[in-house]
Parts: sequence; C-alpha cells; structure tokens
Amino acid sequence: MPKDILNSRQNELSRSVSLSYNGFFYREDTHMPKDKNILIGAHTSAAGGLHNALLEGKEIGASTVQLFTRNQKRWENKELEEEEIALFKKTLKETGLSHIMSHDSYLINLGCPDSINLHKSCKAFKEELIRCHKLDLSYLNFHPGAALKESEDDCLKTIVKSLEDIADLAEKGNTRLLIEATAGQGSCVGYSFEQLGYLVHHLEKKIPIGVCIDTCHIFAAGYDIRTEKALEETLLQFDQIVGLKHLYAFHLNDSIKPLGSRVDRHASLGKGEIGIECFQYIMRHPLLSHIPKYLETPEGPLAWKEEIKLLKHFSNS
Ligand SMILES: [Zn+2]
Ligand SMILES: [Zn+2]
Repeated sequence: MPKDILNSRQNELSRSVSLSYNGFFYREDTHMPKDKNILIGAHTSAAGGLHNALLEGKEIGASTVQLFTRNQKRWENKELEEEEIALFKKTLKETGLSHIMSHDSYLINLGCPDSINLHKSCKAFKEELIRCHKLDLSYLNFHPGAALKESEDDCLKTIVKSLEDIADLAEKGNTRLLIEATAGQGSCVGYSFEQLGYLVHHLEKKIPIGVCIDTCHIFAAGYDIRTEKALEETLLQFDQIVGLKHLYAFHLNDSIKPLGSRVDRHASLGKGEIGIECFQYIMRHPLLSHIPKYLETPEGPLAWKEEIKLLKHFSNS
C-alpha cells in the first residue's frame, strides 16, 4: 500500500477511538467539533482547598463543577480568607471552567416549623450566599426544606418568607438560587412540580431564583423519564406547571430505587432503575443542551471521567 494512503488510514483510525461504558459500546469520534460548549461536570471534592474542586474537575474532563464551599454537615464554619478566594479565582481562570455551583449544607431547613432552627438555617443560608458572592459562583443549589410535623403548605409558606428576607443580600451578587427538585423522602417538600412552581412563582420577581432537576429525585418522586416519550411528557408537565425558562441546571444521577419510591439513592448512569437512554435523550434534547449538568453519582472521579466522556458523545451524536 502506498505510504500516503497508509498514513491517511492510520490517521482515520487514530481519530476514532473505541470505548465502552457499562456494557454499552460506542466510538468516540475525536475529529468531531469539540463538545459545542456543553457544560458538564460533577460534584468534586474541595478537600484541602476550594480550588482543588476545580482541579479535580479539569482532571475528569469537566467544563463545570459543583462543590461544597464549607463543611456541609456543620453549622459553624470559618469565613473565606482573601488568599483562598484569590487562589480559587486564579485556578478558575487557569482551568477554563465556568458556571460553578455550590450545594448548600444538608442541615439547612428554610421551611423549619421550629423558630430556633429556622433562625439557624436562615443565618447559615445567608453565610453560604455571601461565600457564593465572594467566589462569584453562578448558582447556589439548595433543598427547599422539610415540613417535619407541620403541614407541607405551611412549610412552603415559610420557605417563601425565608427567601424573601434575603432579597437585599441576593441583589448584591451574581449568584442565582436554584431550588433542587427532591425525591420527597421523609417530610421534604419540593417533590412535585406544583410545589416547585409555587415557590418559583412566589419568588421570581423578588430574588434571582430557578430550579435544578435532579433526575434521580424526580424519578423517585414519580416522574417517569426512562423513555423518550416519558421524558417529553415529564418536560411538558414541568413547562406547564413551573415553566422551562426557570430550569437552570440538572443533577444527572441514575436511581437505585424504583419510580415513585420517594427514596433518594443515587446510582451511576445506566446502573440503576432509570437506564442509560434517559441521559442520551437529555444530552441530545434541543431545549436542554445548553443547560449545565452535574453528576452526583456514587463511584467517584474515575467513573465520572467515563460518564462525562459518554455524555459528551451523546451530545455530539
Ligand atoms: Zn442535593
Ligand atoms: Zn442532587
């Protein structure tokens, strides 16, 4: 075979890499235009410094990440230091990541019926928002709240009030507050599109608000997304009740527990009850392609790297 033909064959071969993910085989076409600016990442670790979450993101091939700005299981946390902020911003520039999202502490309940804990929650939430402003993060993702022994309606009203109270602070920065759709485990609210719609519509004129859909949570809450048809129907419902324009982010997770179980247990993509097709449809969907997506799957950085590769392939195919 003439040398130039052989060379061009080898070039072609080297541009097409065979990959597999959880028994799903695909070819990564490396000559494809690079990922159309898709925003995809994972909840990376800020252990040893906030900038490390960005470095881990870069390492796994992410273009964005979610992180905890402070220990998510503690009420009292020390303030951000100037050096820490500067290092974070410098690393952000160097890595080229964008649309960074914070996940607030699990302790915070903005709908808490008990006034002492409600006060504690609002204080911690404000501190979190201040940290987000200082780091210039795009989003602060939070679980709306839990009704505990009170009614869900009262809980929703308290959440609205808690968020109205931070309107002045919210105005001072560029961070949008995203209500995470929940699985409805225990007494948590935010598991139905009606509840998410109630919160968004009461707050949209007062604070920068939006919704983050966690695929595991809405599936566990009873919204089917396993087939293209089911996903379309669920999106249509979301659009009618909440409004797609309020959807700012996705948490991409498969679910260990079945549809409607109201139990929140994340699985790696394609290894749970939802199945890999859902993620293929989401990545390809013309209305969803520009929305940032964050993995919170349980297997960690090495698996995220593979999942991100697969999701990029989905968005290009
Ligand atoms: Zn969450
Ligand atoms: Zn989530």
